[in-house]
Amino acid sequence: RVVVGTKVDEHHSNYVQAYNMLTGIRFVVSRIHGKVDRELADPDFLAAQKYSFDISGNELTPSTKYDFKFKDYAPWVFRHIRTAFRIDPSEYLVSLTAKYILSELGSPGKSGSFFYFSRDYKYIIKTIHHAEHKFLRRVLKDYYQHVKDNPDTLLSQFYGLHRVKLPYQKKVHFVIMNNLFPPHRDIHRTFDLKGSTIGRDFREEDLEQNPRATMKDLNWLRRNMNLELGPTKKEKFVEQMQRDVALLQRLKIMDYSLLVGIHDLERGNDDNLRDKTLHVFQPGGEKIEEPQMGLLRTPSKMESAKRARELRQTVTREKPVSLAMTMDKMPDEPHRKDFYFYADDGGFQATHEDERPADEIYYLGIIDCLTRYNYVKKAEHFWKGMGGHESQISPIPPDRYGDRFVRFISGITMSKEQAEKSRPSQSLS
Ligand code: ATP
Ligand code: CA
Ligand code: CA
Repeated sequence: RVVVGTKVDEHHSNYVQAYNMLTGIRFVVSRIHGKVDRELADPDFLAAQKYSFDISGNELTPSTKYDFKFKDYAPWVFRHIRTAFRIDPSEYLVSLTAKYILSELGSPGKSGSFFYFSRDYKYIIKTIHHAEHKFLRRVLKDYYQHVKDNPDTLLSQFYGLHRVKLPYQKKVHFVIMNNLFPPHRDIHRTFDLKGSTIGRDFREEDLEQNPRATMKDLNWLRRNMNLELGPTKKEKFVEQMQRDVALLQRLKIMDYSLLVGIHDLERGNDDNLRDKTLHVFQPGGEKIEEPQMGLLRTPSKMESAKRARELRQTVTREKPVSLAMTMDKMPDEPHRKDFYFYADDGGFQATHEDERPADEIYYLGIIDCLTRYNYVKKAEHFWKGMGGHESQISPIPPDRYGDRFVRFISGITMSKEQAEKSRPSQSLS
């Protein structure tokens, strides 16, 4: 399948959808940050607020370019989650609603989700299925508590959950989350690892055409690769992964993976290709040149002067960066420095056995963690179960899925020196 990133401009079939998403986010995020912070209470986790936007505007919502409905879920909870992840509210608004609209990631995968990047590449909007949405709401309290207890969690960071609806069209749910990959460094290789072998192979022949495709478990093993971490980093990493997976097991989640993007410091950035524009890699790995973004006209009455003033008061740090920010002037992200796995230039640098830094930076995290082990998966388990050994089957119950995941990832986490001592090393069983 050939997939290329598409600019979402007026001619794009999802333009109106993307426009409305951004307009809705801007409105609800400004709104919640216009209030004085307070502690969370139980009802906050169930809260949801509907808004109706239309061309003429009304006393609550400003006039917009299109008529649409927008629903905001648990705004207080997500505000607190963003704070926990040190997301500056004004920067968040600028990233998601600056005059540039999003770029879309190719055609959706088999799950049917669409992915959009914010213009500055910091955030990803992923449309999710109704079941995933319902599930996230149900487990939001557990997720929130986990984030509070584990500031260094490797799990996807969910910053918002919303729903958008156009007249005569289906409701679309979406989450906003962190983009694990950095805007300023080329990712030379990408892997999506689950600890399973069935269907976990990206055709090596296709790599020639598409050298930066997302590879899978078997490609990793074939290359005899390791997550090269010396003792200290390995211990921290495995410990955090175990804590994160324990939560996923408790919530009966499965099918998640460890996404690993590798930046090779010796290769550095390919400045010829980069050419001062952002290059991004979509799930299929196709390289996309940043489109000349469609301009998102800022809705005129979007932020009343009052709300803007309130927002400014809640923002303690510096003013938002220029809207016309270019990619070679990316603002630093000092907040990421505070997070262990994202502290080395937004990622996690490999180390040797003696803890000296090695020449790769990993950009990693556990993604796609909203799939509950439900009857569909059970059915799949039944059918696939008639065939191979369980270590080869992807949809196994959550406890075993998690154990297998941890075993696999821990097994491939070792420094170069360690790996040399213990070859031949890893296998899946
Ligand atoms: P499926 O259920 O078929 O696996 P999905 O639509 O649920 O697919 P994900 O598994 O969440 O999609 O993500 C697909 C790909 O998108 C990943 O392999 C990765 O390349 C990219 N991706 C997803 N989330 C992130 C993220 N937070 N940061 C960077 N890239 C991401
Ligand atoms: Ca996935
Ligand atoms: Ca999925």
